[in-house]
Amino acid sequence: MALPRNVRFHESTPRKEAAAERLRPRVEAWRVLAAAGITLLVALIELLGSRFAGSLFLVSDAIHLLAHLAIFTVLLIPRRRGGDREDLLTCGILVLILFIGAALGRESMEGLLRARPAPAPALLLLSLAGLAANLLTSFLFRDPARVRWSFRAALAHELSDAALTVIALVGAGGIALFHISWIDPALSLIVAIWLLAWAGRLLLRRARLGAAAWERG
Ligand SMILES: [Zn+2]
Repeated sequence: MALPRNVRFHESTPRKEAAAERLRPRVEAWRVLAAAGITLLVALIELLGSRFAGSLFLVSDAIHLLAHLAIFTVLLIPRRRGGDREDLLTCGILVLILFIGAALGRESMEGLLRARPAPAPALLLLSLAGLAANLLTSFLFRDPARVRWSFRAALAHELSDAALTVIALVGAGGIALFHISWIDPALSLIVAIWLLAWAGRLLLRRARLGAAAWERG
């Protein structure tokens, strides 16, 4: 008989949903850990590449990716245990990112003022590895982003990073064609400004909405 199968399906749906809901924090944690592994690997590749390329941009992009690891720790806190601890950690990490952005900005400005040879443009293609990390992380966060604002914010950030990489690749083309040395520190400065703007905007949102800033949007 076909009917019992249908009946069983309808009966088990709420139970399946409840089981999926119970498993959700663990699945989210695995997604975050996978994204962290990919991000760390790419950051190390970029750091290594920057030594050979002599590129300030690759250093900034690698440090930017390492800052993502700090953002990911917030995502590892299950929602129901969030509250004050999640709020405090999020604010602390955003302030840390502001400091990182300011330090990168200072280095980039100094790089702009200092005469230095243009980096090896081919190695700037390593930023494609950064793009891969952004897109893989976006894919991993797509599902939890449907129910958690913090994942949605991280997903939006990763997609904006992907757009930044496209600018970097245009810059790499400029360096390859015209050997313009200031393009590299200018790209690095864009990374710094992006981090300052992103963390600054979220801290302003926190100031405006209180701890509820991390729950809706
Ligand atoms: Zn980023």
